[in-house]
Parts: sequence; structure tokens; C-alpha cells
Amino acid sequence: MTNKEIEKKLESKNVKPTAMRTLVYKTLVDSGKALSLADLEIQFEKVERSTIFRALKSFEDNFMVHPVDDGSGSVKYAVCDDDCTCNIHDLHVHFYCTRCGRTRCMKELPIPEMKLPAGYTYRKAQFIISGVCPRCD
Ligand SMILES: [Zn+2]
Ligand SMILES: [Zn+2]
Repeated sequence: MTNKEIEKKLESKNVKPTAMRTLVYKTLVDSGKALSLADLEIQFEKVERSTIFRALKSFEDNFMVHPVDDGSGSVKYAVCDDDCTCNIHDLHVHFYCTRCGRTRCMKELPIPEMKLPAGYTYRKAQFIISGVCPRCD
């Protein structure tokens, strides 16, 4: 994605396309895997952690990224599909490779809807499969 395309995308999601947001989003798209705040900090050495965090939050609030807790100890952020509204039907399995530490969205594998006992409301679910990815096999 070019910077121009990213700016357009941010605007379409009602996120003001600052230079920093454009850069953070581009990094997430280009990496092709979920990244943690620490991963991003390494890429943007001179940028305050809080600035990166605020960029991620504004993406999350506007359905541009979704958080993934893959059990590695830090939450990672993955890019959402264009039409994602992060509702139950957009939830999918994430795969964590224990060799390379990459976490990927498996959008072709939706999380099955489970019937909860009466009185419980479904809000979020994490479905993590860990193992070895094709790159490491
Ligand atoms: Zn791997
Ligand atoms: Zn995902």
C-alpha cells in the first residue's frame, strides 16, 4: 500500500491521517503478521511509546486493527479486513508459530459461535492455535 492509499483508508475510517499514524499502519500492513507495541517501538526508535500506543488505539477504536492475545506475553495487533466491524462474525482463529514467534490471522477459519448459558453475553473471544508454520516446517 502506498502512503496515499493509507491516508485515504484512514480518512474513510474517520481517523485523522497524521504522518505517524500513516507510518504505523503501513508497518502493520507490510509486516504481514501481528505486531506488538514492543515490535513497533523497535522500528520507530525515536518515537515515544505513548504516541505509537495512541495510534494503535485509534485504529482499534475504528475497526482497522484487532488485538490478539497469543499467549506470548504481549498483546499483538493485526490488520482488519476492509469490511471488518470486529463483531462476532469477524472473529477468527489466530495461529502462533512457536518457532518464529509469528502470529497470523486465519480469516478463513471463523470462531464457531457457542451457545452460552442463559444470562451470559458474548463480547470477545480469542481462539489461538499454536504450532509450526509452513516457513519453519
Ligand atoms: Zn514460523
Ligand atoms: Zn486476526
